[in-house]
Amino acid sequence: LNRRLAEFGTTIFAEMSALALRTGSINLGQGFPDTDGPEEVREAAVRALRDGRGNQYPPGPGIPELRTAVAAHQQRRYGLAVDPDTEVLVTAGATEAIAAALLALVEPGDEVIAFEPYYDSYAACVAMAGGTRVPVTLRPRDGRFRLDLDELRDAVTDRTRLLLINTPHNPTGTVLTREELTAIAELAVERDLLVVTDEVYEHLVFNDAEHVPLATLPGMRERTVTISSAGKTFSFTGWKVGWVTSAPDLVAAVRSAKQYLTYVASGPFQYAVAEALALPDSYFEAFRADMLAKRDVLAAGLADAGFAVFRTAGTYFITTDIRPLGESDGFAFCRALPERAGVVAIPNAVFYDHREAGAPYVRFAFCKRTEVLADAAERLRKAFT
Ligand code: PMP
Ligand code: GLN
Repeated sequence: LNRRLAEFGTTIFAEMSALALRTGSINLGQGFPDTDGPEEVREAAVRALRDGRGNQYPPGPGIPELRTAVAAHQQRRYGLAVDPDTEVLVTAGATEAIAAALLALVEPGDEVIAFEPYYDSYAACVAMAGGTRVPVTLRPRDGRFRLDLDELRDAVTDRTRLLLINTPHNPTGTVLTREELTAIAELAVERDLLVVTDEVYEHLVFNDAEHVPLATLPGMRERTVTISSAGKTFSFTGWKVGWVTSAPDLVAAVRSAKQYLTYVASGPFQYAVAEALALPDSYFEAFRADMLAKRDVLAAGLADAGFAVFRTAGTYFITTDIRPLGESDGFAFCRALPERAGVVAIPNAVFYDHREAGAPYVRFAFCKRTEVLADAAERLRKAFT
């Protein structure tokens, strides 16, 4: 492994899912649903396969039907006018979109600011691009992980090229508020920074939280690369259909990098996702209500077992603090948890440069059937009380 990647071994998701299989534990680690997405969307994929749509290389930017559906979705949900021909790029999941955006936009030596805890591919992709990551730590206050705007301001230097944002935020479940996002936008404009914003959990916001796409804020349309994916919204994480929306020059730049990563991917699934994006609002509402109910089942179970539970405003993850259980090392805790309780979780410390800042936090995924969550909660209660 070369020097750029030396610090990145196996991702925690692979490690923990293998541990779950080996020990027969309930896997609340890697975030993937245990129920597939809508039947009619699956049927749309089968139809595309059978009719011979997408079985050969689709067009480089993505099939026109999907680009049009992405543009229509941005217009319908957020009032954002997006040109399907020049402002949308289909990618192999959000993962490729993140990689292509960073490879296209970061010069060797550029600094990239990301909030820690950060999704693990951010650090690896910044490294592959030859950039330097600059973490700004989200810290819990009043039950929620928050951004310290002064710390963010202080992190910007003459070498800062871009801000890498993720809202709703994996793993903390925080949804950045309009005020926080406005401050980020003002800073980006003032310091002339690009912003890459990972909004894959855009449809998973609960209660009074609101998902505000950064691109809707003043001055941001032309400097923001917005990333989303069908994996989370439609519960098809294996299909790897994602997309980028941005200004034409930025989309062209990201496309240049993307061409040499996969060139194209997921032909027939692109047709199915085009249909999924056009589902009525009732689909998105039911999906959200279902996940909200699951959140409440798992949150109550974790609290009963003695964890301190942070309130999840968005995503399908709950971050907990294990100190009330008399524990302080999330790594050791997660490695022992399968033997101890038959449950797998993710230590948030892997998402930090300042590992000690993340040490006592552990993430549980709740995108599982209610009976599975109840079983996991019961196992944890038995193990810890
Ligand atoms: N960003 C975040 C914050 C995620 O949680 C995930 C899913 N694990 C991804 C990106 C990757 O999305 P995809 O599966 O579409 O590549
Ligand atoms: N996004 C999912 C998570 O955070 C899975 C990621 C992956 O397997 N790479 O758990």
